[in-house]
Amino acid sequence: MLFKSRLELLEITLLRSLNARMRLSDKDVSNYTRLRKGLEGEQKSDLWLEGLSEEWLVIHDLLLEYNNSKFQIDTLLISHDKIYPLDIKNFEGDYFVEAEKWYTSAKKDMKNPVHQQDRCVVLLRSLLRDLGYHYPFEPYLIFINSEFHLYITTINPSLVFHSQLNRFLKKLNARSVKLNKGHYKLAEQLVALHMVESPYPNLPAYQYEDLKKGILCPKCYSFFSEIHGSSLVCGNCGCKEEVESAVLRSVTELVLLFPGYKITTKIVCDWCEIVKSEKTIRRILGKHYKQIGHGKSANYVLPKD
Ligand SMILES: [Zn+2]
Repeated sequence: MLFKSRLELLEITLLRSLNARMRLSDKDVSNYTRLRKGLEGEQKSDLWLEGLSEEWLVIHDLLLEYNNSKFQIDTLLISHDKIYPLDIKNFEGDYFVEAEKWYTSAKKDMKNPVHQQDRCVVLLRSLLRDLGYHYPFEPYLIFINSEFHLYITTINPSLVFHSQLNRFLKKLNARSVKLNKGHYKLAEQLVALHMVESPYPNLPAYQYEDLKKGILCPKCYSFFSEIHGSSLVCGNCGCKEEVESAVLRSVTELVLLFPGYKITTKIVCDWCEIVKSEKTIRRILGKHYKQIGHGKSANYVLPKD
């Protein structure tokens, strides 16, 4: 049973928007690409785990802390007698291991994912012990990408490769035993401890004036280039969207990028650019937001309920 799903990291949402609206440094582009690729792998894995029977609690994306050390669990499976922390890797291409060191095919050394996972498992085990749980652990590294190959001389049963995914799932399903209230309580406690980190310190510096204005296509993230009646059309991928939903999406984006800004008709008109009519913008804001004040100083906030 899916207990906690995965949301897109706000950092990815914001970097996607900044990537379209300004020139990112190489470092920021590679950070954005790495995050996006990681998320793609996790989403593939989430889909694969939908094949698990109901007698498993599936918790995606936990950011926890123990003794001032933060650690991330991509997916945690809770079964009747064991805890399975899964680390999802979306590596692509050839890799090899030599004397416990991991390298890409270009001989670039990298962080050993087994050691990274060991650290998380030690911290998670201590956290659970403090909460009074003593389940055994069975951690796995899941290599979700079919284009990944690891040259390795020893058998390591905690590594699961793409060609083994089906058999691995069958093995887990064969162990399905009904869960009790204690398992649900553990899941609830872990989800309550999940931390949400502010993405803003990791972002490049940006200013409203420097960002390119316009409405981004929700499919390909290029700017909408045409408006036909009440629809916007993307010149790049052909995607069509109603002006109203596109404006609302853009307002959400604006609020995320500039949390302190007051949402006024004027700023939304400037931000969306392609929708020239202030009247249309005012109507859309008035329909979905709560108006504070009147006339030129009127601004809009989301209704509480
Ligand atoms: Zn498009």
